Order: sequence, then structure tokens, then C-alpha cells
Amino acid sequence: MDIFKQQLQKDMAPHMARALRDIQGYPEGTQECERCGALTACRRRQRTLYEDEESNWATLCPACQKEADAYWDERWAEYYGMIL
Ligand SMILES: [Zn+2]
Repeated sequence: MDIFKQQLQKDMAPHMARALRDIQGYPEGTQECERCGALTACRRRQRTLYEDEESNWATLCPACQKEADAYWDERWAEYYGMIL
């Protein structure tokens, strides 16, 4: 049962991150964006579930973050489409 619970929490992680982001929006940061170089990026948890936790984070500006989220939403939709 514990393994099931752990897996469920793991599966829900990106959705929780998304829910938080939807409430908070995309605040501008002061770091350099990994994609476009804009100096309005901040480090955020991505909608990914890499084994290496470090890989689940990226420094993106609000615009690139929005694109990244849309991209991962599609990947997740495909994923759930395959298993359901
Ligand atoms: Zn950017």
C-alpha cells in the first residue's frame, strides 16, 4: 500500500506544482533565462518527474516558462492517453 501511495504522490507532483503556479502566475525573477537570455528568469520546478530531482528545475523567464508548461502539459496528456 505504501508503494502505491508513493507512486500516487509522485504522479501528482507535477499537477500540484501546476496548481500552485496557476494561482501564483509567473513572477519575474532576476536571473538569466536558460532559453532566451532574458534577465527576468527565476528557478522553478518543472512539470517533469526525472529521477534526478535537479533535472526537474529550470531557470526560465515568465514567457519561456509558459511555453515549457504548455509543452509538458501535452506530454502528460499523451502519457495519460496511453495508459488510460
Ligand atoms: Zn526566456
